Amino acid sequence: MPQHKVVNSDHFITFTNGYILNNIEFDKQHIWHPYTSSVNALPCYEVTGAKGAKLTLASGEELVDGMSSWWAAIHGYNHPTLNKAAHDQVDAFSHVMFGGITHQPAINVCRTLLDMVPDGLSRVFLADSGSVAVEVAIKMAIQYWACQGRSEKSRIVAPRNGYHGDTFAAMSVCDPINGMHSLFENVLSKQLFAPAPQTRFGQTFSEDDILPMVEMFENHHHEIAALILEPIVQGAGGMRMYHPEYLKRCRQLCDSYDVLLICDEIATGFGRTGKLFACEHADISPDILCLGKALTGGYMTMAATLCTEDVALGVCQGEPGVFMHGPTYMGNPLACAVANASLSLINQNHWQTQVQAIEQQLQSELEKCASLAVVADVRVLGAIGVVETRAPVNVAEIQRHFVRHGVWIRPFGKLVYIMPPYIISATQLSALTHAIFSYLQKQG
Ligand SMILES: *Cc1c(COP(=O)(O)O)cnc(C)c1O
Repeated sequence: MPQHKVVNSDHFITFTNGYILNNIEFDKQHIWHPYTSSVNALPCYEVTGAKGAKLTLASGEELVDGMSSWWAAIHGYNHPTLNKAAHDQVDAFSHVMFGGITHQPAINVCRTLLDMVPDGLSRVFLADSGSVAVEVAIKMAIQYWACQGRSEKSRIVAPRNGYHGDTFAAMSVCDPINGMHSLFENVLSKQLFAPAPQTRFGQTFSEDDILPMVEMFENHHHEIAALILEPIVQGAGGMRMYHPEYLKRCRQLCDSYDVLLICDEIATGFGRTGKLFACEHADISPDILCLGKALTGGYMTMAATLCTEDVALGVCQGEPGVFMHGPTYMGNPLACAVANASLSLINQNHWQTQVQAIEQQLQSELEKCASLAVVADVRVLGAIGVVETRAPVNVAEIQRHFVRHGVWIRPFGKLVYIMPPYIISATQLSALTHAIFSYLQKQG
């Protein structure tokens, strides 16, 4: 390997001995990407720009974005309002510690969030990523019961097929198989799992669906601190859309058996499912709510854990009297300023018509995939479209097809799914659905 770098142009690194290392090659040799092998890496595409619903590649190709950078970039990329908020805040101050200090951007974002979220939530913990927001929620729930003298209530129950993040407490409540619990068996907390809800959104609710959870509560309530779930849409654990009645019953069970309800709306929050928060489909409020992903409109990492007055008072009663969590970048002013701008765009309420239009178009255009032999199921809710195949897709191959067809879609396993920015045009959305159909059609 060459040792001395002399020129660092945009896409190549040239070394003193004349060796040229292409960006993509350097990346492949040295940089981890999400959920991939570092030694046998999948191909990566270099992005050099992004605007609206489009990504520009180093090759000059432009791709219509079907992913919103994993649920986050709901307003599209390079948005003038979000850009201005970031620029203005950089010029004021980018970060200050949150211990003993507060600032307007944090106050604004918490005030606005409390106005938007389901009733009953009154306290905000600003976390630095979704996984951390889930860690905070679980810690709060366990500490809540410990401070009431009920430290035996320390386990968390979750439906199977859930996804709540990659840190250890979050991982302990992810689906045990998808989440590869066996790898970490000796260190992961042993949580309780009920079968995933089976009645689909839009079907008639089957009473059988809630029975395993009822049984779980009857048998284990004395040791359960909280039930954690993703309301209505289970995201990375299977892209499943279930009946609001299931969520309603879970709320009732929590009330009857002294168990806190943690709703993880990190993916579903901010309009994605057709309601501002997916909880609203069931007309319920959680005791603890996790938000993230679209909170900053996809600009930077920030998340929030909100709780009720009862939870906040419970956590801080008796010893130690404080909540022991405080990330270095808690309440980062830059992230807060951009989040405020993003929330103000949401509160202009165009998302409702945008998400409705996307839902209708996804329903009509993805339907024809259902007739293909390789397709097991097609489902749509809000601005989320899912085509489930019978066998896992070849990610490298399907990605090449998509890039050739001018779209950015990143499938996993048997799931080819899209959740585009709300500002996507009808023509751009058609490019996404056509690319999915044309690939699957070729598979026979
Ligand atoms: C993405 C996600 C998380 C984790 O968020 P990160 O910011 O990636 O740590 C947690 N819960 C749900 C439902 C998610 O979709």
